[in-house]
Amino acid sequence: MKALAKSKPEIGLWMEHRPVPEIGPDDVLIRIRKTGICGTDIHIWNWDDWAAKTVPVGLVTGHEFAGEIVEIGRNVEGLTIGQRCSGEGHLIGKQSRQSRAGKFHLDPATRGIGVNEQGAFAEYLRLPAFNVVPLPDEIDDEIGAILDPLGNAVHTALSFDLVGEDVLITGAGPIGIMAAAVARHVGARHVVITDVNQDRLDLAAQVTDVVPVNVAKQDLREVEGVLKMKEGFDVGMEMSGNQVALDQMVENLVMGGRIAMLGIPPGKSPVDWSRIVFKAITIKGVYGREIFETWYKMIAMLENGLDVRRVITHRFRVEDFRDGFEVMRSGKSGKVVLDWG
Ligand code: NAD
Ligand code: ZN
Repeated sequence: MKALAKSKPEIGLWMEHRPVPEIGPDDVLIRIRKTGICGTDIHIWNWDDWAAKTVPVGLVTGHEFAGEIVEIGRNVEGLTIGQRCSGEGHLIGKQSRQSRAGKFHLDPATRGIGVNEQGAFAEYLRLPAFNVVPLPDEIDDEIGAILDPLGNAVHTALSFDLVGEDVLITGAGPIGIMAAAVARHVGARHVVITDVNQDRLDLAAQVTDVVPVNVAKQDLREVEGVLKMKEGFDVGMEMSGNQVALDQMVENLVMGGRIAMLGIPPGKSPVDWSRIVFKAITIKGVYGREIFETWYKMIAMLENGLDVRRVITHRFRVEDFRDGFEVMRSGKSGKVVLDWG
């Protein structure tokens, strides 16, 4: 089969021929139709320090996918050949305290497809049946291929009650933009999204009803004045990984504000802890998706009017994967989807 692999410890990915994976009794084999390119795949492409430390050379990459079940292990029940699906890319252990409490997303032994284990940038993917999420007819393959990052957005956005609240999202990457759409969908009052990249802010305004603010040019306080907000934002979602953005968020929250933090700061970031203490701010770290609660809520919202399709700005045939990675690396795209035919 065709697969995009990290064949060499240098910049790039390479299209290779690999054997179709053999499945075990508890697995299924999925014929991949569409895949999304993630920021994580860009780290792997660039072979930065994190990627070099984490990803084994030779690995088939990719973790955002939609496809069709073509083979089923003998122990598997409840799935059928031909069923369309996406799936949770975090492979979890079942022995830890948290897993045994049903909190699968907190299992410390989690391994990721396309990062630690063979991934989805391939014609066929082996996945434990446990991880499969069937897709209803209302969700087509290209939306199916971005459910992983939409799940990050949903997990973050549903961390705190947003009904009637003023929400600040820092970072208008694909996940920040989708989080804005979710915040609107569930009934936030004002949703303000910041970035320093005007293309991304323009895209955010096309995808959903948000107030985009270019913090390189505009003062967030002025925007609060225009929106007649008196004391600051109730809830923040940090989606940039940028220290400056986190500081700005802390400064612009109400007393007792809440922050859900998905963005990954590089290394140990200095934080003004006294501001966090005296403003009585709650910070929640958000990792992955709440398996499978996030998947359930995400699919329910998509079936009931949540629309994130415009966050997909580019579509390429997998043969043209280099163009797809190029546009992602330029910062001038939203989600980029590869078509495996
Ligand atoms: P992205 O890199 O596409 O988007 C980040 C955006 O932040 C960019 O548009 C960038 O211009 C913007 N930005 C930079 N400096 C800023 C500033 N000072 N103020 C406001 N915005 C600023 O990332 P993404 O794919 O949308 O993911 C969002 C974040 O979530 C990333 O940090 C990513 O690493 C992280 N992530 C975390 C998890 C998790 O499980 N915790 C999962 C996926 C992604
Ligand atoms: Zn991803």
